[in-house]
Amino acid sequence: MTDQKSMFINGEWIAAESGETLEITNPATGESVGVVSYGDGREAAKAIDAAHEAFKSWSKLTARERSRYLYNLYELVRNSRDELAGIISAEMGKPLREAKGEVLGAADNFMWYAEEAKRVYGDTVPTSVPNKRILVIHQPVGVVAAITPWNFPVNMVARKIAPALAAGCTVVLKPAECTPLSSIRLFELIEQAGFPKGVVNLVVGKPELVGQEFINNPKVRKIAFTGSTRVGKLLMEGAARQVKRVSLELGGHAPFIVFEDANLDAAVEGLFESKYRNAGQMCICTNRLYVQESVLDSFSEKLIERLKKTKVGDGRNKDTEIGPLINEQALRKVLDHIEDAKAKGASVLYGGNRLTDGEYSKGFFIQPTVISGVTKDMKISCEETFGPVVPVIPFKEEADVVEMANDTTYGLASYVYTENNSRCFRMAEALEYGIVGINDGSPTQTQAPFGGFKESGIGREGGYYAMEGFLETKFVSFGL
Ligand code: ADP
Repeated sequence: MTDQKSMFINGEWIAAESGETLEITNPATGESVGVVSYGDGREAAKAIDAAHEAFKSWSKLTARERSRYLYNLYELVRNSRDELAGIISAEMGKPLREAKGEVLGAADNFMWYAEEAKRVYGDTVPTSVPNKRILVIHQPVGVVAAITPWNFPVNMVARKIAPALAAGCTVVLKPAECTPLSSIRLFELIEQAGFPKGVVNLVVGKPELVGQEFINNPKVRKIAFTGSTRVGKLLMEGAARQVKRVSLELGGHAPFIVFEDANLDAAVEGLFESKYRNAGQMCICTNRLYVQESVLDSFSEKLIERLKKTKVGDGRNKDTEIGPLINEQALRKVLDHIEDAKAKGASVLYGGNRLTDGEYSKGFFIQPTVISGVTKDMKISCEETFGPVVPVIPFKEEADVVEMANDTTYGLASYVYTENNSRCFRMAEALEYGIVGINDGSPTQTQAPFGGFKESGIGREGGYYAMEGFLETKFVSFGL
């Protein structure tokens, strides 16, 4: 990709007014995979104007008409699965198999919301006075500014724009600066799907400047964001000035709890999914592994056996299970969490080092790692690691582990492995998390609500819950 007209605004491909460009590199090899035009607040303002204008007619279409565009996009994305997966893998390093899964997930979102667009029902409510009638209708909030991260560069976009468009909103998207290429390809498909001009716009630009325009421009009525808690708080503070709606999917610090009655083999596979998939770079990733004392040794042995068989490498190789981290800064943070834990008394049970030889020499690779002897004062116990490193912490009783698991400012995902049905229910209710995986290390589906308690966010993506975030509720009172 060398075409530098990388922004799609009002139905046209344009370059940044500043003339600035940005080079995208493969984190596995350091090779350049493309150069894109790098805009700022000016392009954001143009895109917002276009979306504001397009809202007038898009919001008036029937749901069935809007649905047709989304269905077209579903088919296009599905058919471009291999191509999009290749771009994702090249720009952010994830294994091809995972990237294909991500693209299918994105396609599924377009299909699901093509259907859901038709189900925005209202209510009639019984009145307490005889000469009045109460009608409740839902209407789209208006222009949505969406900001997405690099770890699921296609599906995070789909999860925001599909429900927003289905609800009748128009959208300006700013993708993460290290993964714009898959968004650009997705927007080519959006163009092909025939959406009217201005309905969906793409701004590849400087985060702070584009973000400021999103916050300050009164035409933006809603900010939908996935990323760090730090940036989420900045956006929420800024949005408060105009009481803009926000939905925020922020960081996590997931506990993964293995009870002595668990199926340990299933728990190891579940942990692998929740900790090492995407090289540990997911907001629902396990960050603390709690294992009941009596099975601590056998579980740790099984986990290490699994990791010994795990191939780390370039995501484009067929046998790769763990790709590189996204960049040097991410790698430094993960190594810092390991060093900090060691300095405060922890020991490394497996892994612990950067990989630098041969095929690893130009990328940001790290061994999958298991640490023991972790205490609360260590960074890994309270900060999001975002890498393939897990601290294993023993516990005695159910009540103790519930307290430890909930002792965090985060509240996104949590995991429990047990074969005891009563315990399943007790744990599901006791954990202060928006998502609880019971004997499930990969709890994400298009139709299910995804989002966090506490500082992990506000609002929900997925299912009809996401539609609510793009709709206003209007009470119409009829006097007879
Ligand atoms: P991560 O640490 O996962 O990269 P960030 O929160 O920094 O998380 O990034 C998530 C998204 O937020 C990216 O698209 C990034 O460009 C964007 N972003 C970062 N800083 C700001 C900001 N000040 N205003 C608006 N968006 C921002």
